[in-house]
Amino acid sequence: MQQTYNPTWDLDVIFPGGSDSEAFRTYLKDIQKDKETFSAEVEAFTPEDGNVEAEQLTGVVNELESVMKKLREASAFISCLSAQDVTDEKASLLVGKRSELRAELDAIMSKFVQKLVAIEDTTWVTLLQHDGLAELSFVLNEYREQAKELLSVEQEVLINDLGVDGYHGWSQMYDTIVGKMTVEVEEDNKVKSLSVGQASNKLGHPDRKVRKAVFDKLGEAWKEQSALFGQTLNHLAGFRLQTYKHRNWKSVLKEPLAINRMKQETLDAMWTAISNNKKHFVKYLEKKADLLGLEKMSMYDIGAPLTNTVKKSSYTEASKFIVDHFGKFSPKMADFAQMAFDKRWIEAEDRAGKRPGGFCTSFPDSEQTRIFMTFSGTSSNIATLAHELGHAYHQHVMNDVNGLNQRYAMNVAETASTFAEMIVADASVKNAQNKEEKIGLLEDKIQRSVAFFMNIHARFIFENRFYEERKEGLVSVNRLNEIMVEAQKEAYQDALDEYDPNFWSSKLHFHITGVPFYNFPYTFGYLFSLGIYAAAKEQGENFEDAYIELLRDTGRMNVEDLAMKHMNVDLTKPDFWEDAIQLCVKDVEEFIEFTQ
Ligand SMILES: [Zn+2]
Repeated sequence: MQQTYNPTWDLDVIFPGGSDSEAFRTYLKDIQKDKETFSAEVEAFTPEDGNVEAEQLTGVVNELESVMKKLREASAFISCLSAQDVTDEKASLLVGKRSELRAELDAIMSKFVQKLVAIEDTTWVTLLQHDGLAELSFVLNEYREQAKELLSVEQEVLINDLGVDGYHGWSQMYDTIVGKMTVEVEEDNKVKSLSVGQASNKLGHPDRKVRKAVFDKLGEAWKEQSALFGQTLNHLAGFRLQTYKHRNWKSVLKEPLAINRMKQETLDAMWTAISNNKKHFVKYLEKKADLLGLEKMSMYDIGAPLTNTVKKSSYTEASKFIVDHFGKFSPKMADFAQMAFDKRWIEAEDRAGKRPGGFCTSFPDSEQTRIFMTFSGTSSNIATLAHELGHAYHQHVMNDVNGLNQRYAMNVAETASTFAEMIVADASVKNAQNKEEKIGLLEDKIQRSVAFFMNIHARFIFENRFYEERKEGLVSVNRLNEIMVEAQKEAYQDALDEYDPNFWSSKLHFHITGVPFYNFPYTFGYLFSLGIYAAAKEQGENFEDAYIELLRDTGRMNVEDLAMKHMNVDLTKPDFWEDAIQLCVKDVEEFIEFTQ
């Protein structure tokens, strides 16, 4: 008999009892105690007095690792609880508790890193050779170097405290306004009031009239609020720029590049290679316009479906498909996925009351992961499932790495996930039952390339120019619209007929205060994993272990060293990027051939 998989997850093996869990309450109390121990150890650590014992520093660092691991574990449990049932009020309270704990730990952490700065350079180098510290040298150096770039502890504390209302507050204000917005859309001869998210989903409608109508309605809605969004964007950017000015940071890219542990040259090389290859994607857009019977595509045609094949798979079928195809690249990854299905590490049930979207979260203390999504059987659901399993596998191979070396940045975070997704997307194209299905699946892949190479490029160009102008003063709504359209024209190389001037207000990512420039790391991750995928196809059997070693190093190296060590490539040169893009160009060539 064929085995079927249960699409709900098992959280009880981690903490039994959901948001009422007694075991979890006890765990939170333990974190509180550990945090106090860590704080006391930081207080007792006084390198400013002149003598620093390696043993003492090792002790503080071990305590930090332990408390961080536990906090990540607790945080993951809370994320799972609030995602599986949006009406769970006890889970919402826990979200508040989590922010509190994080803020407290951050405060102790700032004190600790400032103390590292007080250590003399020669002493520091000797310290890092000590047994318990050597393996952490990258991360410890990073803490220390980044702390050197900051203002005094008192000033940084003041910035953080003022930032709650003066910086993050603008982002919350943005969320509040967006949450209240509605769009009136006509459907089946009835006018329906939709949220902007619901309305945006209609931009993939097969009927152009519907898409155009929704696009216009959305445009009106964003325009109506544009004076408010002009305020939120200008002020949060102003806060960021003022902070940089006081810290004497010249470039707005300094912070995002540091967060992503990459060099400016790498970023430049990546965009150069992309720009050099845009012509292929312009050709795809022209071909699509042709297939849709249009002179030229508009922004609202990009997501239009070309075919109407809706092949559906059951959860069990999807699981088997994924495990089979993972196995062709990496038997270990296939075994891991099999275990995740068997042990119910995945919440995929299609039911009401769940949060939308998907994620993968790690429980580093119990060395497990959980995946959250809603599976309704589409090919894009299968891609998401594979994507999240890629994230889970990344964590899995890192389980025995020191907790402080497990923290990788957004640009490499998407490596394992995109890689896994690519395996499954390619296999789906190969296994397509007919030409129409093949064209649809191939187009799914190309659309992702267009998003990373053109849409995200437009966001990057916009943000750069906007911040430059913002340095000189407030930027008007009209000017924001202009910069946006200019950026889109450049990024899409004039391939479109109608652009989206309101995109600076409709895209949440411009209003996120947690991370600046929430755009280029996506494109980096996509191409970086494509480069690995190309290598995997070439290397065959030797690939698996090399891949695992690369993933294990993602939390303790900068990206240039990581690529040089494991792939022998120089990310600051366009060649690597060029090769990765060629895989996407092949999709376009195949697409054009199939649609002749
Ligand atoms: Zn992801």
